[in-house]
Amino acid sequence: MSNSRRNLKAEDRALGLGQPISRRDFLNSTLIASGALLTSGVSPAQLLSQEDWTGYGGVGDYSSSNGNTYSIVQSGHGIRNGDFETLPAKVIDTGETYDCVIVGGGISGLAAALFFMRQSGSGSKCLVLDNHPIFGGEAKRNEFMVDGQRLIAHQGSAVFFQQYPHSFLARFYESIGLSSPKLEYQTWGGTDSALPLSRTPYDMVGSEPASYGFYFGAKFGQRPGVWWTDPWGKKLQGAPISDALRAELLKWRAGPQKPDPRPKYEGDEVSRRLDGITLEDHMVDLYGISRETIRTFLSPVEGGGSGLGPDVLSAYADYAADLLRPLESDDTDQMFPGGNTGIARLMVKTLIPDSISGANTLEDVSRGKVNFGLLD
Ligand SMILES: Cc1cc2nc3c(=O)[nH]c(=O)nc-3n(C[C@H](O)[C@H](O)[C@H](O)COP(=O)(O)OP(=O)(O)OC[C@H]3O[C@@H](n4cnc5c(N)ncnc54)[C@H](O)[C@@H]3O)c2cc1C
Repeated sequence: MSNSRRNLKAEDRALGLGQPISRRDFLNSTLIASGALLTSGVSPAQLLSQEDWTGYGGVGDYSSSNGNTYSIVQSGHGIRNGDFETLPAKVIDTGETYDCVIVGGGISGLAAALFFMRQSGSGSKCLVLDNHPIFGGEAKRNEFMVDGQRLIAHQGSAVFFQQYPHSFLARFYESIGLSSPKLEYQTWGGTDSALPLSRTPYDMVGSEPASYGFYFGAKFGQRPGVWWTDPWGKKLQGAPISDALRAELLKWRAGPQKPDPRPKYEGDEVSRRLDGITLEDHMVDLYGISRETIRTFLSPVEGGGSGLGPDVLSAYADYAADLLRPLESDDTDQMFPGGNTGIARLMVKTLIPDSISGANTLEDVSRGKVNFGLLD
């Protein structure tokens, strides 16, 4: 091994930079790079650094906190590269002291701050740091003005579960002002027949009404794109996809083709078996469909919310959330208009009562104005 190869950093070696390169590979990559320069293409890093790379963020307090920003991706790379293992050169001593400093203002950091403040007694100081313009982490929302109506939708975390009465979590909910965790939902008010609407992104999965639709765009040869309603009722007949793909998706939709024992608790035999295989292997076995169908069409659905595909997630990921639901019935799943942003806002209002305008009611905490002066 040459000296330069031996001295490589671990991440460069992981990328294969220590591997020998043939003359042909070298020439091919040089040609590709020259071609890319001629077409004035932008690199992935340049694409990510464009200001709007997270897409339109709507209006209001959350408009510039639309998902994770480019600087957060960079911080992740910095952690991987060991940049933070020594104290940065430009550290400024602000002279401030705190009894507790929490990095991250998501629901974990906010709950940690609440528990710290409750247990450490009066006079304690706790600092919560976050690298977004607003707290919440994955539990954030976006707001949009459509035809004069303010529409609110969750970014990531959507649903919370009703808890056993008097349990630790039920008491925690109550302590932040969520004393009736079974929410009351607005009913249909128009004179037209009611449009069946889902209260959470998940509660109609498997029973989608005819108003449910798929969007087929340019990738499916549709210019302009088309909304295609009632796909399952129509058994995908007429959808712009191949017969083979239609058959595969219908097979998935029909459900497992063999027994699918579900884990009863984390660590039981079924959960350990599922945890030993990928979700993709499990789906191939259970539904008899191809890896390609799973990777192309089902990846965001299966193991949803994990940020990874079924090819790397454990099969247990698909069952784990159900084990968190303490009460059996499905209608225990609850959701604020902005998802668990509501929980984050309730916690912030409990920590600093004037940080969100209005009373400590669900309605006011959801709609109230954030007083950033009290948070910064
Ligand atoms: C798409 C999706 C859907 C989900 N759906 C649900 C659901 O329906 N119900 C449910 O209960 N859970 C759901 N979850 C899981 C839930 O969102 C998370 O478990 C939870 O929000 C995590 O909270 P957290 O505070 O631990 O982390 P995060 O919410 O990630 O918060 C961490 C915060 O710390 C900040 N941060 C990180 N590093 C630094 C740093 N160095 N300096 C400053 N700030 C930093 C981050 O930017 C972020 O704001 C979902 C998750 C996703 C991704």
